[in-house]
Amino acid sequence: MITFYPGPSKVYPQIATFMQSAFEEGVLSINHRSPECMDITQSAIQLLHERLNIPNQYSVYFISSATEAWEIIAQSLTKEKSTHLYNGAFGEKWAEYAGKLLKQTESIVFGVEEIASPAMLSQQEIEVLCLTQNETSNATQIKDLSVFRKAFPESIIAVDATSSLGGINFNWEDGDVWFASVQKCLGLPAGMAVMICSPKAIERATEINDRKYYNSLLFIHENFMKFQTHYTPNVLNMYLLNKILYEIPNISTISEKIKKQSKSWYEFLNTSEKFGLNCLVQNIETQSDTVIAVQGSEETIQAVKERTKLAGITLGNGYGKWKNSTFRIANFPAIDEFEITKLKEILG
Ligand SMILES: *Cc1c(COP(=O)(O)O)cnc(C)c1O
Repeated sequence: MITFYPGPSKVYPQIATFMQSAFEEGVLSINHRSPECMDITQSAIQLLHERLNIPNQYSVYFISSATEAWEIIAQSLTKEKSTHLYNGAFGEKWAEYAGKLLKQTESIVFGVEEIASPAMLSQQEIEVLCLTQNETSNATQIKDLSVFRKAFPESIIAVDATSSLGGINFNWEDGDVWFASVQKCLGLPAGMAVMICSPKAIERATEINDRKYYNSLLFIHENFMKFQTHYTPNVLNMYLLNKILYEIPNISTISEKIKKQSKSWYEFLNTSEKFGLNCLVQNIETQSDTVIAVQGSEETIQAVKERTKLAGITLGNGYGKWKNSTFRIANFPAIDEFEITKLKEILG
């Protein structure tokens, strides 16, 4: 089976043997406060720093999902108000979750062809700015986050990178909190997320001093200083992440390959009008590198889905209002080139 679903997505093929070795090594039954488990945690964190070029002073934590990260940011990093700048369904959901926990949230919505910029925000001070780097629902991305860092040096900038972390080489200093669930661009089974915090984020959490919840950030932070977790974690996924990171090249190499592939996808789609398909998003400055949305008439989309299904290929469904007029193609590192070639042959 070949899948281009943008999450849960294709896992790295090595996962099959790593699952078996986890079982044989007894990892599935180890105590989460044991030295063996602490070694896995420490090694996975160190490899994340090395492979993704995360600065040493940034902390890495494992939590259960990106959705949990939305709540942690509202609970532990926001005193009064978070500001949400988004153009799609995941950015909107984040604002909704934050809105349930906070006295105040502000949402600013922009268009899929528009480049997100600080000019879209009112000039008043922003406490926590929430950005979705890669909007999985409509296949757009915010390419340049540094403009926000420059415009709001004092703010906490939180970045949802769920469908791009592991595929794109970020400038980590542009954000204070980064997070991603592992079942998308990181090519692992669902059930865990990575959260990365700047020293400023930890300072802010210390000022706010929220300790009310099992997943209050300070509580997580204190446990991770000992390479332990605040609850019994997904040890299997930490083990798999560790194993996969050990095998893959540095993110700069991966990112180059992903960008080359996305360029080739967009070129392919720009010449595919003859078979009734084109890109949902036209602006090359906002098109995502890791998720590609393809648009057509409902009949064409239906026909393409049937043809790919017969060939054993799963495409990502369209999202929300684009459900029947688009499909999505993940361009994640776990997907092999021969799979892409096969899909292009069928689409053409
Ligand atoms: C999938 C996704 C989420 C939600 O991830 P969960 O693991 O279900 O919590 C959040 N943000 C973005 C951008 C996503 O693509």
